[in-house]
Amino acid sequence: MNVNYSIWKIFYLIFTGAIILIITLLYHRFYDVQDRYHAQIRHYTEIISKTIHSDLLQKDMLLEIIGKQLLDKDNYKNKQKTQEILDNLLKLNPYLVGFGLFDVNGRAIIASTNVKTANKINLLKNKTTEYYFKKSLKTTSMVVGRTNLFKVVNKWIIPLRKAIRDTNGNVLAVMATGLKNEKNTNYLDSIKLPDDKAVVIIKDIDDKNNLYRQYFSKSGNISSEILYNTPLSKNVLEITSKIIKNKYNFTVDDLKLNGETMSIKTIDSFSKIILAGITYDKKYNLWIIVKSDYNVILDEFFKVFITYISLFIASFIVIFFLFKNISSYDRKKKKALIFQAQHDTLTSLPNIIYMYANIDKWRKKHTEKFDILYIDLDNFKNINDKFGHKVGDKVLIEVAKRLQSFFSKDDMLIRQGGDEFIVFRECIDDTKIDESFLKLINLISKTYHVDKKEFRIGMSMGIARFPKDALIIEELLSLADTAMYNAKKRKNSYSFFSEKMRHKNIFKTDIEQELRSAIEKDELWMVYQPQINADGTLYGVEALIRWENEKLGLVGPDKFISVAEDTGLIKELGEFIISTSLKEIKKIQSDLNIKFSLSINISVIQLMEFDFLKRLLSLIKYENFDKSILTIEITESLSIEDLDESLPLLNAIKNEGIEISLDDFGTGYSSLSILKKLPINELKIDKSFIDEILYDEREKALVKSIINIGKNFGMKTLAEGVESLEQVEELKNSKCDIFQGYYFSKPLNKDDLIQYLHKIKDKNDRR
Ligand code: C2E
Ligand code: CA
Ligand code: CA
Repeated sequence: MNVNYSIWKIFYLIFTGAIILIITLLYHRFYDVQDRYHAQIRHYTEIISKTIHSDLLQKDMLLEIIGKQLLDKDNYKNKQKTQEILDNLLKLNPYLVGFGLFDVNGRAIIASTNVKTANKINLLKNKTTEYYFKKSLKTTSMVVGRTNLFKVVNKWIIPLRKAIRDTNGNVLAVMATGLKNEKNTNYLDSIKLPDDKAVVIIKDIDDKNNLYRQYFSKSGNISSEILYNTPLSKNVLEITSKIIKNKYNFTVDDLKLNGETMSIKTIDSFSKIILAGITYDKKYNLWIIVKSDYNVILDEFFKVFITYISLFIASFIVIFFLFKNISSYDRKKKKALIFQAQHDTLTSLPNIIYMYANIDKWRKKHTEKFDILYIDLDNFKNINDKFGHKVGDKVLIEVAKRLQSFFSKDDMLIRQGGDEFIVFRECIDDTKIDESFLKLINLISKTYHVDKKEFRIGMSMGIARFPKDALIIEELLSLADTAMYNAKKRKNSYSFFSEKMRHKNIFKTDIEQELRSAIEKDELWMVYQPQINADGTLYGVEALIRWENEKLGLVGPDKFISVAEDTGLIKELGEFIISTSLKEIKKIQSDLNIKFSLSINISVIQLMEFDFLKRLLSLIKYENFDKSILTIEITESLSIEDLDESLPLLNAIKNEGIEISLDDFGTGYSSLSILKKLPINELKIDKSFIDEILYDEREKALVKSIINIGKNFGMKTLAEGVESLEQVEELKNSKCDIFQGYYFSKPLNKDDLIQYLHKIKDKNDRR
């Protein structure tokens, strides 16, 4: 799964979760704030209603005391004295507008001096005063009248009237005063309230079912006429009583009875949404209301909202960057993993996975032509075997560095594995190409200094060219590989792919396919080439394999043996060769009652099989073959390449009494010192020397010295590929021991060999 994708999925999950959380949190905070404001407004309402109530109670008592005093012993009849007392009282109560004593018919008996036309007032004859004056006659409490304009003093007042009764409860007179109720004159204005709050006092419903304002602390620019002489809108009342009913399940009448303080959200008569604390003063029939603009709650909540949202945003910015970091770390890790997968850990060069992942991109830049170079180091295995992999690795790293320094950044240099490298290289000028490749070979063959040791290695390189040789990458790679094998024959050189190689390449795959079933199909047989002693007698035979396939015809062993080696078929093939040769020669020797040596060619790979000797011995035992007349032929290259491994094995073979012959001697690189160490019985001088001895004095001298060396080391010498009498004569002069070649006989199949042997026998018998 894509790591980044799931990381962001988690992020969005957290984000959505947090959004839900913050919404519920804000929701609760909103109700918290609202509840707090409700509680607060109820609290204010209670305090203010109590203040108003106790003040009215005080005025109630004041009127009672004054009225009683005035009536006592007809004190009021002393007009001058009475007025003096009333005027003094007024001075002590600056919020009151005047005092007056009225008879039960509403006429003024006496008043403070500021009420100039007192004798003309009749409270029962005035529409606004009549209702509440009558009410005051009926109750023992002070009656608060409707706020009105008291024309005598031209002031808005809240009238207060108290009936003064005798001991029997009969009304003797009514004592009256008025609370000043103009802007900043009402003592209520001195109640300190927060700016957002206002106090409203409303007179309870009157005889005409109207509600009038009694007092409003925030009258502002509104005229007193509108404030106090206009009944409240019925609509507002309806809405408010509905809200109360809904919230408290009370009717307005219930509320009047229980006097509870409540708080609601409603609209006021100016159509503003408000928060209102409401309570009812039963004694003085007043609604006391503290109201507050509902926006205050919204403002406060907005502050909370802003804090929460900023915290939320801030933390999410942090979380976002955290996730971004994680995700970019993941991306980097993924990139590193891809890099790891696509690069060789040892040399850090791109590997074959990288090649396949990037080849299309590379080809887009190099559409017209390019070369594929297949590079293989020469004899690198020796370094690994002799000095260990650690040293080998260090040399490889150095080789990689040199290759990197040689090729340009536009070229794609790949470590294919082991000591093989592939380069996709854009074509350079054809006239410079040879120079460039020689330079590369020189660079790679320069001495390597690793662990205080010096190494020299070569490189073989095959080149396939696009589009000349092929169009498909895989095919080009295979062709470059084929060309590399061609270069390998010479070592430390390069070779361009040629059409000739193509056929060889195809042939090779055909061979591989057909060879797999060759033994089963009985397509293989052995031939034997006689080996003759210097005195003309038979020394022995060399067994050579033959193969005829219905599709490929006769295929030479020099072609298919290497294929068998490459594909692992050599083990089976080797067993076939050994067992067939042993069986056939054993039978011939017993049938004809003669004895001669048998040489069998053993491939390097075959010899290096861990159980080679064990298998060989068991086959010898099975055929009951005489070990002492058996020779195995090994090639020179083997003996020096893996001396540590091969020497004990060769010694073991020799200890079994089996002879060892060094085949193709002279073509390899073995030095005399190595030759001395090897348990060799016979040197087989390669045909290439024998071909030259008649024409080239130096070759003749060389063969002579080879024979001498062999003799010095106690080895037999055998000349192979002898084709003429002159050669025989020359070799005899040089004291060569044994001869093999067409001059004596071509390799013979079993039946021809029997005939050949009969002939020799006859010749000997005749002698
Ligand atoms: P080799 O071991 O050097 O074998 C000698 C080759 O030279 C044989 O070729 C033989 O037929 C050929 N030859 C012998 N006398 C003459 C001559 O006077 N003139 C010329 N022009 N050629 C001569 P062949 O049989 O084609 O074998 C080629 C190579 O294949 C052998 O070289 C050997 O390396 C390999 N080989 C053949 N048979 C076997 C086998 O049974 N096992 C293994 N491992 N390798 C084999
Ligand atoms: Ca041979
Ligand atoms: Ca040979």
